[in-house]
Amino acid sequence: MTTTAGPRTNWAGNIAFAAPDFYHPASVGELRLVVARARQVRVLGTGHSFNDMADSPGAQVSLAGLPPEVEVDSAASLVRVAAGLSYAGLAGRLDRHGFALRNLASLPHISVAGSCATGTHGSGRANQSLSAAVAGLELVTAEGDVVELSRGDDTFPGAVVHLGALGAVTRLILEVVPSFEVSQRVYEGLPLDVLDDHFAAIMASGYSVSMFTDWRAARLTQLWIKSLAEDGPPAIAGEPWFAASPAPSARHPVPGMPPETCTQQLGVPGPWFERLPHFKPEFTPSAGDELQTEYLLPAGQAVPALHALHQVSERIAAVLRICEIRMIAADELWLSPAGEQDSVAFHFTWLPDAAAVLPVVSLLERQLAPFGPRPHWGKIFTTPAAELAGRYHRLPDFLDLARYYDPAGKFRNAYTARCLGR
Ligand SMILES: Cc1cc2nc3c(=O)[nH]c(=O)nc-3n(C[C@H](O)[C@H](O)[C@H](O)COP(=O)(O)OP(=O)(O)OC[C@H]3O[C@@H](n4cnc5c(N)ncnc54)[C@H](O)[C@@H]3O)c2cc1C
Repeated sequence: MTTTAGPRTNWAGNIAFAAPDFYHPASVGELRLVVARARQVRVLGTGHSFNDMADSPGAQVSLAGLPPEVEVDSAASLVRVAAGLSYAGLAGRLDRHGFALRNLASLPHISVAGSCATGTHGSGRANQSLSAAVAGLELVTAEGDVVELSRGDDTFPGAVVHLGALGAVTRLILEVVPSFEVSQRVYEGLPLDVLDDHFAAIMASGYSVSMFTDWRAARLTQLWIKSLAEDGPPAIAGEPWFAASPAPSARHPVPGMPPETCTQQLGVPGPWFERLPHFKPEFTPSAGDELQTEYLLPAGQAVPALHALHQVSERIAAVLRICEIRMIAADELWLSPAGEQDSVAFHFTWLPDAAAVLPVVSLLERQLAPFGPRPHWGKIFTTPAAELAGRYHRLPDFLDLARYYDPAGKFRNAYTARCLGR
């Protein structure tokens, strides 16, 4: 087993990992030994979270060295995936078998296990979080035992979005669907007040819809509509109230960034995995030099929440690269930010200046408080544990589950203490 100097920061570089030991096991057997011997341990995925959730006061382990297996069960429409694999590593292989995932996040660089651990999502009012595709998982628990959990087990909905607190996930079983083609079109300059009456219709105008604004003027800078290729161009463009114009060339959601790093637009159909993410796997996604925050709230609160944000738009704009608004269908996972409610997500890509950004994050939390916002677990937020507990009624059950698999608290860290009170 290799012990190496691990990556000393997360992807964004805003978190310096304090874990004194870094392990890179090449097999599940080696991983079991690391976990069994460690006093404290956490798994690091691809490090794309913007907070300290993947850090550990003891050992930090990467599973990127485990065999990158992808086993498709065509008859059952399932795929078994090694936890360390990224969506970019999985998608092409899955597509060659004629299968697809229903949805992807804005970037394919993130690990499957790390994404599912936080309730990571894309957009689409009928599309659930990526975690909702998990039909089974294999976990190395605190004593080094291997446990298999499947959909149908009583506590399974508690184990999927686990924030790294139950053990080391070594394999996931994901539901798949037949491969499909998507085309995406970008529109520009939709006035924000159009959303007052037409938010739901616009969000329903494609398979996956993202609205972008920089909050510097009362309009969407861009509207990305990803449609199933078989459905043709979105009907919305013909609506009399639809005041946006089609972008004449490819766009990047962050003003000034090169569109070559983005997936193909202008209505050209292509495979699901080359259209559902905004960013291509071979480039740095988004701005690269950034921080991120995101809140999910009940979908029905989208318009009042937009007005609440508009009240503080100048404060937001001063530290913002871009804001993205998406929709996520409800799932049944205990700690999923979209758990039990169809949700709207307000995402903020910030300038990389934590001191300037944090007061605005607190301001956003105050503005959105009436809507019970659930922060993205992997991004920057300041919501205290007591408030989070009020927004997840199954949290006590999750803590019981964590005590069951990890009685001594080996998988605890500063993040779980701060956010879960454990
Ligand atoms: C540019 C950019 C764009 C993004 N876009 C989106 C988006 O579109 N939608 C969205 O929802 N989020 C988005 N995110 C956030 C990101 O998807 C999540 O933070 C995700 O959890 C990161 O996955 P990771 O593999 O990097 O996990 P890490 O950040 O490495 O880890 C996340 C958590 O999972 C745990 N973990 C990881 N692997 C395992 C394992 N095998 N077993 C046990 N625990 C494990 C870690 O301990 C940690 O607690 C974006 C992030 C970036 C940087």
